Amino acid sequence: MAVRAQRPLIRPLVQRLHAYVPGEQPKIPGLIKLNTNENPYPPSPKVLAAVKAAVDGRLRLYPNPTASGLREKLAQLHRCAPENIIVGNGSDELLALATRTFVEPVAAFVSTRDESTKSAALSRALPPSEGKVQYFNPSYSLYPVLAEIAGAVTNAVPLNADFTLPALSSLAKRGWDFKAALSLITTPNAPSGRGFSTAELDALCAKSKGVVVLDEAYVDFAREQAMALALKHSHVLVSRTFSKAYSLCFQRVGYFVGHADLIAALDKVRDSYNVNGLGQIAALATLADLPYYRRNFRRIITTREQVTRELTGMGWTVLPSQTNFLLARPTRFSAEDWLAKLRAKKLLVRWFKYPEVRDYLRITIGSEAEMEVFVKTVRAIAAGS
Ligand SMILES: *Cc1c(COP(=O)(O)O)cnc(C)c1O
Repeated sequence: MAVRAQRPLIRPLVQRLHAYVPGEQPKIPGLIKLNTNENPYPPSPKVLAAVKAAVDGRLRLYPNPTASGLREKLAQLHRCAPENIIVGNGSDELLALATRTFVEPVAAFVSTRDESTKSAALSRALPPSEGKVQYFNPSYSLYPVLAEIAGAVTNAVPLNADFTLPALSSLAKRGWDFKAALSLITTPNAPSGRGFSTAELDALCAKSKGVVVLDEAYVDFAREQAMALALKHSHVLVSRTFSKAYSLCFQRVGYFVGHADLIAALDKVRDSYNVNGLGQIAALATLADLPYYRRNFRRIITTREQVTRELTGMGWTVLPSQTNFLLARPTRFSAEDWLAKLRAKKLLVRWFKYPEVRDYLRITIGSEAEMEVFVKTVRAIAAGS
């Protein structure tokens, strides 16, 4: 038997890594799935027809390596040039690319899990901002995972207790580093559902020295959107996805909009054929039928407001939502108990163990019929039946 080298087979960074935990996708017949913010309505019939029509012998060919047709249409939509757009295998892929493109992997050489020890060790050697990925807490729980994988130092800065954005003047005191290599901002916020005003975001971006990504995964359900900031500031990228609002999670298509230099840098790091061909076709057909989707946004927003009123009427605390989900603090039982009680009645919602949100449930807005069942079931459980 060969002598095995002393070196571990798996990088210490990967051994220490806390992997991302996606929402469950259980196959339970009759389950009402309100846990992963998928759209309850199917893609447009034209999208389904376009995808079906593309399934033939052409599957043997590589897809367009730069998604050029899709980027042209997106550029028209957002009044910019195709050079301002990069398409990804979902926006998750682009968020990962951003950590690899803009952040030095300084933490990869410090073997500790403790963030303050890590920061202290690193700041002796390097300007620490260059290896820093920062974000608000709570926000998208993928960010710290991507940062860890990239060997970055993470900086999680708490939102206000009511999940609003802290005043710009208080951010530095709270530990926000305006020089951080990469700042990731979920807007509207997940999991709170809160919207942030474009004026507030503009001021934050103007003060930032590193790259700022505004992750607008839920923006189609919001009153305001911040796309203009990606075209105004050369260090700001806006992230969008076809997943949630455009009923296309399965196909994995997302994109960034921003300055051509940042886009070109991301493009260097990107895999050659990162966006599959059927995904490109589905996204193009989606853009050709936007009125269909806008009707769905209105339906979901109407249902969201109805469910907010119903739950508030039962004494629940429901945060005002600008997304297709609600963050709500239930009464009578703990949020964790509600999760189990609802699950027993075939209603699946999301509960996060993190201290900031452990008293809340995150409830995706389903169809009108699904949300009627949800509200009825909540009433029945609260009444003890
Ligand atoms: C769902 C989600 C994404 C990922 O979307 P994909 O395009 O499906 O990868 C990104 N950011 C936030 C905040 C999300 O909730």
